[in-house]
Amino acid sequence: MKVGIVGAGMVGSAAAYALAMQGIASEVVLVDKDADLALAQAEDISHAVPFVSATTVRAGSYRDLDGTFVVILAAGVNQKPGETRLELLGRNAAVFREVVGEVLAVSPDTILLIATNPVDVMTHVATRLSGLPARRVIGSGTILDTARFRSLLGRHLGIAPQSVHAYVLGEHGDSEVLAWSNARAGSLALVSFADQVGKPLTEEVRAAIDDGVRNAAYKIIKGKGSTYYGIGAGLARIIRAIALDQRDILSVSIVTPEVVGITEVALSIPRVIGAAGVLSDLMPELDVAEASALVRSATILKESADSVPL
Ligand code: ADP
Repeated sequence: MKVGIVGAGMVGSAAAYALAMQGIASEVVLVDKDADLALAQAEDISHAVPFVSATTVRAGSYRDLDGTFVVILAAGVNQKPGETRLELLGRNAAVFREVVGEVLAVSPDTILLIATNPVDVMTHVATRLSGLPARRVIGSGTILDTARFRSLLGRHLGIAPQSVHAYVLGEHGDSEVLAWSNARAGSLALVSFADQVGKPLTEEVRAAIDDGVRNAAYKIIKGKGSTYYGIGAGLARIIRAIALDQRDILSVSIVTPEVVGITEVALSIPRVIGAAGVLSDLMPELDVAEASALVRSATILKESADSVPL
């Protein structure tokens, strides 16, 4: 299966590396307006391939994206000093105006996988620009926040993160909602499991986990400038679900007709992912506080998306 990546910076290259290491794609093509960067990343990653898989990793132009099954959009610009969030959004929307048209001209049937931040708003922008059905324009959304939530819960409970079933909903960002009330460990309610193993979820434990999930990116950026390995693996995880038609339940962002009373908003809830993209949306049962936090998150995202000039 051929995968395209537009934007060969830190996130795009980390996704290419994760795809190659897991042998998920037969071919990965990197495109960047900085052609030398795309070439260097492709060369570097392709030198890792002989140790593990048979994936072909190369740099190319938009023409080389023909026949792709999925194209990751990781292209974007960084915030300039003094620039507002909205101005940045406007510039990234301009990048997408150029990129989405180029991709669809050569690969009209592809699935777009959006990684550029703010990812929910950029997913909305890409959906509008592409005219593709919403289920084929998928934002990585809270896939990484959900992974962080499971990892911290697993660490506290002394079990593998894969045995924790818990999701982060809403925005990939400050207003995200950790859905504690429906979280499970194995088949047990989280609280019941925690009590049985003598690791109760006290207020302090919950607050520490909430902080660890919500502020993970800030801490990493402080230490090393940006985050990319985690999201690179998350993007590869979504592509595995698509490539193998796995029908996995993952928290990703697509424009959704209605969530908690807010219409036409791109945000994350658990969704079934397969070869056609998002196959169905799942609305978790939430307690009152979680539901109102999700309304707030959805409202922020809707207002943000409406404010982007297209
Ligand atoms: P991140 O950490 O999000 O990956 P980077 O700045 O490392 O951020 O990567 C973003 C990449 O997007 C850069 O390599 C940049 O050259 C690329 N890019 C920006 N605008 C465009 C565009 N219009 N077309 C293609 N690539 C672009």
